[in-house]
Amino acid sequence: MNLKDHIRGIPDFPKPGILFYDVSPLLANGAAWKAAIDELAEAVHPHKPDLLVGIESRGFLVAAPLALALGIGFIMVRKHGKLPGDKIAHSYDLEYGTDTIEVQSDAVKPGQRVVVLDDLLATGGTMAAAINLLRQVGADVRAAAFLVELTFLNGRDRIDVPSISLTAYD
Ligand code: 5GP
Repeated sequence: MNLKDHIRGIPDFPKPGILFYDVSPLLANGAAWKAAIDELAEAVHPHKPDLLVGIESRGFLVAAPLALALGIGFIMVRKHGKLPGDKIAHSYDLEYGTDTIEVQSDAVKPGQRVVVLDDLLATGGTMAAAINLLRQVGADVRAAAFLVELTFLNGRDRIDVPSISLTAYD
């Protein structure tokens, strides 16, 4: 299966000059999606996670089926204001302004091994922030994993754990 056959580039989204890599066709194709999750399961398994973490929102789409495939649970890192109960928050800089992500305080037991999932690695800012947040709740972050990596943005240089991606664009 060639993953790139199921990913399309959409020009000028979300703003002019940006080529957005849309994974919707991959999700819509049962065989291709299963092959992608199986491949990711094989790459993530050696890191022996106790739990997976999905980053809102497309990271959830990857983390949930992968957790089932590996027979483990998954937790959510969400944008500010979406999670109920006690939370830990982490704010990080964007190109313009800041963003805040949150995780429930009791989501991870201290020392639990986690692998963090998102659909795509661009500048690495989102994943670096999620890793920072997860460490604040005591997680032992073992790896980050993605369907797609935009290598020309050098995002993996901002991530201090092994980075797994199924396909790359340069
Ligand atoms: P970063 O923080 O690495 O610059 O951006 C990655 C985050 O933005 C991920 O959560 C990802 O979902 C989203 N993102 C940025 N660019 C794209 C893109 O071209 N396609 C998709 N599907 N997501 C993107």
